[in-house]
Amino acid sequence: MSYKPVKMKKRNPDPGPGRSGDSPSLTGAEDVVARAIQGLGIMHATACMHCGFCADTCHIYLAEPKLENIPAQKFSEITRYIRRRHTLSGRLFSRFVKNGELTQDVLRKISDAVYGRCTACGRCTLQCPVGIDLREIIRIGRKMCAAVRQVPEGLQRTVDNQIQTGNQMAIPREEILSTLDWLAEDLKMEMKDPSIEIPIDQPGKDFLYLINPREIKFFPLSLLSAAGVFHAAGASWTLSSRWFDVTNYGFYAGDTPAATELTRRVIEEAVSLNVKEIILSECGHGYRSFRWEGPHWIGQEYPVSIRSVIELLDEFIRAGRIRVDPTMNPERTTLHDPCNLVRLGGIVDPQRRILRRTVGDFVEMTPNRENNFCCGGGGGMLSMSEFGDVRVASGKIKADQIRATGAKIVATPCHNCADQLIELSKKYKLGVEIQAVVELVYNALIR
Ligand code: SF4
Ligand code: SF4
Repeated sequence: MSYKPVKMKKRNPDPGPGRSGDSPSLTGAEDVVARAIQGLGIMHATACMHCGFCADTCHIYLAEPKLENIPAQKFSEITRYIRRRHTLSGRLFSRFVKNGELTQDVLRKISDAVYGRCTACGRCTLQCPVGIDLREIIRIGRKMCAAVRQVPEGLQRTVDNQIQTGNQMAIPREEILSTLDWLAEDLKMEMKDPSIEIPIDQPGKDFLYLINPREIKFFPLSLLSAAGVFHAAGASWTLSSRWFDVTNYGFYAGDTPAATELTRRVIEEAVSLNVKEIILSECGHGYRSFRWEGPHWIGQEYPVSIRSVIELLDEFIRAGRIRVDPTMNPERTTLHDPCNLVRLGGIVDPQRRILRRTVGDFVEMTPNRENNFCCGGGGGMLSMSEFGDVRVASGKIKADQIRATGAKIVATPCHNCADQLIELSKKYKLGVEIQAVVELVYNALIR
């Protein structure tokens, strides 16, 4: 498939430290809404009948049941503005009422609601009896805020890091290379095979493997495990030392120009390395971004195929390319479903098939699959320290789900969820270990 190079879109001006404060113009936010309602439809944005059915679906409302935490309330300022500006009655009567005007103060309220009281997990959307896509309206709110520099400081900083350095943790190239070096040495010893390598920037391989920078900085075991499993399967693969980051903080922020640029770099790296496929390390929003949003952002189909490593591991096991022994993971293990991978990504069964083959005692938490609760750390919450209390409090639902299983290990195919679950385990004294799925597969390998 041919690929047309994509030009970098103009980003919003540098927001400087902290929330941007007063932006001179709200035109950017107005334009976002005008474009969004063409795609979403005016009915979606104005059809709420205030039944309140969405309330009990939301982990943030359940943790703190107050009016402003009801999902429909979180987008009420957005829909008020849409009614005023984009409906006939709103336009006719707007000069008589202030309700629905878009001001800096209103945008601050929208920002607090869409970043600070919502992880864009999409669970409420499943339950709305009139079919309103609540999550999509929340995302319109995030795009409005990004367009006028009302993104919370920590999230904005992470987007800027990723754009400026190529990875959201701003890890320098030397550190990446030296980590990969000692990881390869460790792997040779563990697998007692001096021929093993962790290939970097090698052209012509079957797949380019994207990782979460967290795997370089803090949790190298998951990268080591993936390299070990790929070696055992005889896979042909490479990492990139430039554009290796599976995350996309532009997506979280609602900053579409940044999200597009991050996607463009990876796709063009895959083309330049002449690989057949991109394999995404365990990452919920990375999967949602690359698999489903990315082609729309860059305005064309990808010239290579793209899959989650979960799909690849499932294929390796089912095809007999690796052999696994579930007795190597004897502890009771449960599974957390990342919202962006499962409910919003469609990867539901492969991780279950993998765990049934690789752990001795696999139990589901309740509810699960598409109905699973967000862990509280989604939507970029982990990078927004100002909402840390909300994040940890709203994770109580997840902590209770985990405790009820009696599991000692929680597997989750998402590094972002893993960070939140580690914190929840400490806070709610769960005594569980959090593991990536690939770590359990590596541990179960019959070598
Ligand atoms: S998208 Fe998730 S966090 Fe946001 S309001 Fe709906 S259920 Fe709550
Ligand atoms: S369930 Fe749907 S219609 Fe009912 S309050 Fe929530 S968004 Fe509005």
